[in-house]
Amino acid sequence: MITTVLMDYDGTLHDLEGVTIRMLDGATDLTGEQLYHNWKYRVHRDLIHTRHLDRHDDTHFHCQLLFKVLGRPYNKETADDICARFEESTRLARTAPTYFPDAIPALDRIKEAGLTLCLSTGTGAEEKAETLARATGRRHFDHVFSEPKLGYLKTEKEYYTLALRETGSQPNETASIGDTPLSDIRPAKLAGIQTVWLNRRGEPTPADPEQRAHHEAADLKEALNALGI
Ligand SMILES: [Mg+2]
Repeated sequence: MITTVLMDYDGTLHDLEGVTIRMLDGATDLTGEQLYHNWKYRVHRDLIHTRHLDRHDDTHFHCQLLFKVLGRPYNKETADDICARFEESTRLARTAPTYFPDAIPALDRIKEAGLTLCLSTGTGAEEKAETLARATGRRHFDHVFSEPKLGYLKTEKEYYTLALRETGSQPNETASIGDTPLSDIRPAKLAGIQTVWLNRRGEPTPADPEQRAHHEAADLKEALNALGI
């Protein structure tokens, strides 16, 4: 039985991709959707995740690779503009988020089931939790975890081991729900936690068995059903 839920934020509760795509419109002759698609799949997944994991959060480095995969000469002015648009999109995630329609009902359902609910995100966790509390008039999270607070990246098993220690929960009674296999699924599974991959866009299941979740769900309602919540 699940007693504790670790809930990711960007791409899980807040529509970061949608906001970023709109933000990237007009940055180049490509649409925001086309530019983001190249960034996410050809740069972030194909190059950063396989060869440059140490540059995971380096937006300028992503930009340099973006010009390469697009077969275009590097242009510093355009690169700086793209980076500024990504930064603005990240800022909006904390201050003016666009919650998915199923996000708040899912958080309500977890609380009404009497479970311990934790925000499990990379950075800006406290601000994200505060903004949500202001938007809903309710404090959903019993714990707010971030990389700076725990001292580990979310891609590391230790992030989840320490979260378990903080909540006092057993791994097999704890679930991690999130949209990114590399940070929400793999390290949580290594810590013995139950996992649900939120696959809102119907992407193929990851090839790496370590990144495959115990359950896969198209939205948060399905995710909670899969966990028996
Ligand atoms: Mg996410």
